[in-house]
Amino acid sequence: MTPATHSTLFPQVPESADAVLDGLDPEQREVALALHGPVCVLAGAGTGKTRAITHRIAYGVRAGIVPPAGVLAVTFTNRAAGEMRGRLRQLGAGGVQARTFHSAALRQLQYFWPKAVGGELPRLLERKVQLVADAAARCRVRLDRNELRDVTSEIEWAKVTQTVPADYPAAVAKAARDCPRDPAETGQIYAMYEQLKRERDVIDFEDVLLLTVGILQDRHDIADQIRRQYQHFVVDEYQDVSPLQQRLLDLWLGDRDSLCVVGDASQTIYSFTGATPDHLLNFRTRHPDATVIKLVRDYRSTPQVVHLANGLLGQARGRAAEHRLELISQRDPGPGPAYTEYADEPAEAEGTARRIRDLIATGVPAGEIAVLYRVNAQSEIYEQALADAGVPYQLRGAERFFERQEVREAGVALRGAARAGGNDPLLDDAEDLPAQVRAVLSTKGWTSEPPAGSGAVRDRWESLAALVRLAEDFARAKPGATLSDLVAELDERAAAQHAPTVQGVTLASLHAAKGLEWDAVFLVGLTEGMMPITYAKTDEQIEEERRLLYVGVTRARVHLTLSWALSRSPGGRASRRPTRFLKGLRPGSGPLGTAGTGGGPGFGRALGGGTGGGTDRADAPGRRKRRGPVRCRVCGTTLTEAGEMKLMRCEDCPSDMDEGLYERLRDWRMEQARRLGQPPYCVFTDKTLMAIAERVPASDGELVTIAGVGVRKLDRFGADVLAICAGEEPGGSHDEA
Ligand code: ATP
Ligand code: MG
Repeated sequence: MTPATHSTLFPQVPESADAVLDGLDPEQREVALALHGPVCVLAGAGTGKTRAITHRIAYGVRAGIVPPAGVLAVTFTNRAAGEMRGRLRQLGAGGVQARTFHSAALRQLQYFWPKAVGGELPRLLERKVQLVADAAARCRVRLDRNELRDVTSEIEWAKVTQTVPADYPAAVAKAARDCPRDPAETGQIYAMYEQLKRERDVIDFEDVLLLTVGILQDRHDIADQIRRQYQHFVVDEYQDVSPLQQRLLDLWLGDRDSLCVVGDASQTIYSFTGATPDHLLNFRTRHPDATVIKLVRDYRSTPQVVHLANGLLGQARGRAAEHRLELISQRDPGPGPAYTEYADEPAEAEGTARRIRDLIATGVPAGEIAVLYRVNAQSEIYEQALADAGVPYQLRGAERFFERQEVREAGVALRGAARAGGNDPLLDDAEDLPAQVRAVLSTKGWTSEPPAGSGAVRDRWESLAALVRLAEDFARAKPGATLSDLVAELDERAAAQHAPTVQGVTLASLHAAKGLEWDAVFLVGLTEGMMPITYAKTDEQIEEERRLLYVGVTRARVHLTLSWALSRSPGGRASRRPTRFLKGLRPGSGPLGTAGTGGGPGFGRALGGGTGGGTDRADAPGRRKRRGPVRCRVCGTTLTEAGEMKLMRCEDCPSDMDEGLYERLRDWRMEQARRLGQPPYCVFTDKTLMAIAERVPASDGELVTIAGVGVRKLDRFGADVLAICAGEEPGGSHDEA
């Protein structure tokens, strides 16, 4: 871990309330000092909105103006809430509640349910889709996967706009909503869905807010109790507030006005769920005495990244776009955004993984890199490509770290050892704190090398390894710290939900990336159909997609790469086109791209190769050989999933794998991994080993055609693998590089 990351993990807490203000520019400071009455901050991405409100809270608390327990800060994702708790703690305001609307409401609901309704709160449904499918079946409607998704979103929209089933058809007509299906039929499925929920005694995500709103409306005693607890409210990402969340906020506030909201209308990306930037943009109308502050200095991104972000917004239309603010970068110049066109998706994933490996080699920590895509289903191929390239990655949001079972168990073990002090025989040989932690966690499954394969065992190991790293960082930051100090630190972090950085590349959807930032960001899959997504049809939906891309671009501090693939599978028809949103911004993409608009500082520089049109064509001859479409060797179907392509058969088709050979290959891989000091998947992934054990290659030529092998691995491991396949002892030459 770099010293820089260190200081963000264990920074100094400001000495005084005034010192909290030191880290702010004049407008941000104005936000922090406006502690009374309604406050609205309208500002673009990376201008320090989140920073301004966390400092505002910390200043108010540290100066003794607001009691920490009287503040409720709300934001939109668990991860953002975790981030905010972390920042507050670092500013010496740890006692403040920072939650999502959902978790704040759930907590209140759990607490007040016995009093308001009686009995226990019904179980919370994790996913709606199955119940919607059951409801549709009861209504004798057959829905495929996409239709199910559409109906589910309609139900969600209806609920957050507080529309009951009977009113749904009228409500969509009134909102001029473009419905995917017959509104009367959707209304019926919605009604049946609500009935099934009652029958099965479950509640869904939206019910948590609806029920809380219901209780606060009906029970003045309970509303008063909550209002006595919280006097000050702060809302981050306010552009995405839904009518239901706004209603809850109004109920929390009552007739008081200590409300501070911050947002950026150009980052509205949840209107498909019923959210609207109107509450942000009309704040002054609702609160005529509000202090309104605008921020334009962008502290996050280089002028090159900001130039592209401004260019994207320059083409936006609609109400949100009318309120856009031109961003001004405060950072030193960096490389221009890189645009890369690939022949097919696997090539795009491999190319991205290769660039990531190169970036890591130049010193960018893996944890400071993200790959962002439009839909979660795109992750698999990138997981595979990163595993093939030997790059660690993480999909899971870091916010739930302390809730993971293995982390809780590890906590119990560490606490036990701390309590036993010097009397725990486990700690006899441990010289320092990290060694003690390693010794304790080795009883829970930690090993110095990661276990083979992926899945639950690997996940468990990753969590324990993150704890070991945290202990190492802690010991470095606080020399002389004991195991008890560490346990106290872990408790505090668990309370603040501030997980240690998992040192892997982040794979996330654009929606989940909101509010976050990385040194290097890869925006992948930028083709028409994905960006904008096929089901975005109306002008408003298209504009929302454009804003989503804007959110993606503005996540990058320095390195930004945008890529797309012309066909899905190798050898497929190159029928795809790059996203329309980059037209005129990406060099060589049309009229706007000539003078002025597209030509920001360093704009053309990253387009290495200099292939005529200005976009890097990573599929140029010599860089990657074109493969024909990959077909299942059992049933002949054309394969499209990365994992299946690797196996060269459908996952469900019968495997003719030689199990003994597979086991021998795995043992050999373990040995190589140990020898190289790398995780086993860096040698070969499970899927590649399986494909080898199924095809039993007899020559270099046969081996290299197996996906995941490639020329480099052929050189390093080919002789060994072919020997094992031939039933001989491996003993080929090894390249230690
Ligand atoms: P988004 O719209 O994406 O949520 P934001 O407006 O909330 O962005 P922040 O995340 O608060 O922006 O800040 C962006 C980055 O700039 C952070 O790394 C933050 O620490 C840094 N930053 C903000 N203000 C300042 C400042 N005055 N001095 C130095 N760094 C700053
Ligand atoms: Mg923010």
